[in-house]
Amino acid sequence: MAVLVFASAWKVLKANLPWLVDEMAIAPEAIHAIVIQVTSFLNCHNIASRGVVGRQAFIEMHLIVDATDVEKSHQITEEVEALLAAKYDPVRVLIHVEPPEYKSDRIAYEPAVPGPARSRRRDR
Ligand SMILES: [Zn+2]
Repeated sequence: MAVLVFASAWKVLKANLPWLVDEMAIAPEAIHAIVIQVTSFLNCHNIASRGVVGRQAFIEMHLIVDATDVEKSHQITEEVEALLAAKYDPVRVLIHVEPPEYKSDRIAYEPAVPGPARSRRRDR
């Protein structure tokens, strides 16, 4: 019985609050295609999105910028946010800025595989 109640509650939650559920809202490749328009762009990977486009979308990514100072790096993230907002507003964008050696070709975010900590892939 408890399981049934939980299952139907989950159904209701999932229907009404899709942003709580870790579902992909936008194809990572589509986001990547927008980000690469930004000047001073070096690399963008681990892109994830949630929510509903047109209602409230959330995007996160790792970004490597062609800058070494905080001001310039921040300015680049603002450019990325503006481009994404122009296309997906209302959207909240979280950008994780990384140093050049974290460059990765893994465009889409892949959750870490559970297992012994030692064999787990480093988050980069
Ligand atoms: Zn990274």
